[in-house]
Amino acid sequence: MPELPEVEITARLLDGALKGAAIESALAPGINVLKTFDPPLGALEGHSVLAIRRRGKHLIFDSSGGVALLVHLMSAGRLQLYDKRAGPRDRTSRLLVRVRLEDGGTRTGTSERELRLREFGSKQAAWVKVLASEAVEQDEALATLGPEAWPDPPPLGELLDAPRPLHALLRDQHVIAGIGRSWVDEILWQARLSPYKRGADLLEDEAVALREAIVGTLGAALESYEQSVSLPIPDKLPMPLQVHRHEGEPCPRCGTELRAVHFEDYVIAYCPECQTEGRVLKDRRLSRLLR
Ligand SMILES: [Zn+2]
Repeated sequence: MPELPEVEITARLLDGALKGAAIESALAPGINVLKTFDPPLGALEGHSVLAIRRRGKHLIFDSSGGVALLVHLMSAGRLQLYDKRAGPRDRTSRLLVRVRLEDGGTRTGTSERELRLREFGSKQAAWVKVLASEAVEQDEALATLGPEAWPDPPPLGELLDAPRPLHALLRDQHVIAGIGRSWVDEILWQARLSPYKRGADLLEDEAVALREAIVGTLGAALESYEQSVSLPIPDKLPMPLQVHRHEGEPCPRCGTELRAVHFEDYVIAYCPECQTEGRVLKDRRLSRLLR
C-alpha cells in the first residue's frame, strides 16, 4: 500500500517533528529487517536527526553522524512517531525497528518520543539498510529507480515506449518511481486510458493527458493527507480512492458500473465506459474458477 503520497506525507510529518532531535538509542527487534550489517544500527546513537525525506517509495533518515537509514515499507510497513515509549503489548503488528529520541525537555510534553517501524503484514516485508550517508544515493535500491512520478515527471512518450501494458509500466519502479497498485488505477481512470493499452501505442495527446493525470492525482492525494493525516501516522491512511477497491459501484464520472480484474496479488479496477470502449475485461480469477 504505501505509495508516493503515503510515503511523502510520512516523510513530511516526521521531518517536521524530528529535525534536530538527538538520538538516544536505535534497536532492531525485527528479525531480518536489517539488510546490511556495517555500519551497525547503533552508529546512530549520540547523533541527531538531520532530515527525513522520500525517494520513490523509500524513506531516507539522515543523521549527523554520517550514517543514514534507507527504509522501504513494502506493502504493510509503517513508520510512526509516538510521544511515549512502548506501551501495552501490541498484537496488531510487529515492531521491527525502534529509535528513541533524547528530547531533554526542549519541547514540552514530548520528552519520551520513539520512532517505530512496524509491520502489519503476515509476512515480514519492510526492510532497512544502514548506510554511510555518501553511499545512500548509490545504493542499488535508489540507483536503479526511474524518474520521480511527482511533482515533475519527464514527458512520458519516450519513457513508456515499450510493448508492455500501461498498468505494468507505471508500477515498474525502474521506469517511473512512486506509483503502485492503488494509485495506478486512479491515474489511468483519470486519463481515460485502458490498463492494457501498451505504452508503445500511446498517442502524443494521450501521453500528455497521462502525465497530467499522474501529477494531478498524486498531488491531490497529498493535499488530502495534509488535511487528514497527523502524527503518530495512523495504522491505516484514509486514502481518497475513487476507483481502486470501488468495483461494483458507479463510476464517479459517467455512472457506469466499475469493474475489476483480479490477479493473485493485485486487482485492476476500471470503468468500461471511460477506459475500454465499453469492453469488460476478462476476469482471470473467474475464468479459472469456471474452467
Ligand atoms: Zn466512467
